Amino acid sequence: PLDKEELGKSTWGFLHTMASYYPEKPTKSEAEKMVQFFNIFSQFYPCEPCALDFQDDIKKHPPKTKTREELAKWLCDRHNTVNKKLGKPMFDCSKVHERWKDGWLD
Ligand code: FAD
Repeated sequence: PLDKEELGKSTWGFLHTMASYYPEKPTKSEAEKMVQFFNIFSQFYPCEPCALDFQDDIKKHPPKTKTREELAKWLCDRHNTVNKKLGKPMFDCSKVHERWKDGWLD
């Protein structure tokens, strides 16, 4: 089985990549489905304390799914909330596509 760290790293990789390839201009149906995706995801994420905190966090900060930019920024902020809780460094959200879509440019 995956431990909490491996599971987290793989899951963040998937979630940020999904946000980076989300349509720039989604249809209303796509936007609604992405909100549903995160609500369902937060219910079944297989680390109970992680899932409970993430449910609270997205209740306070519901998914922003009107554009790719908005979704990627929203998800980066959610990840930073977890980083803060775990004492990890904050990530510069202006670099989120560079990291997850276009590749590091340095
Ligand atoms: P990770 O945090 O996994 O990040 C992977 C890579 O993403 C980093 O190397 C960096 O390049 C990039 N990155 C970092 N921050 C951002 C950002 N803000 N935006 C975009 N990219 C970024 N663990 C717990 O112990 N307790 C919890 O409550 C908990 N809750 C979690 C909730 C969710 C929804 C998820 C997906 C994971 C959770 N985790 C939790 C796991 C935790 O977030 C980490 O994944 C794990 O500790 C491994 O950390 P890491 O240092 O490898 O980097």
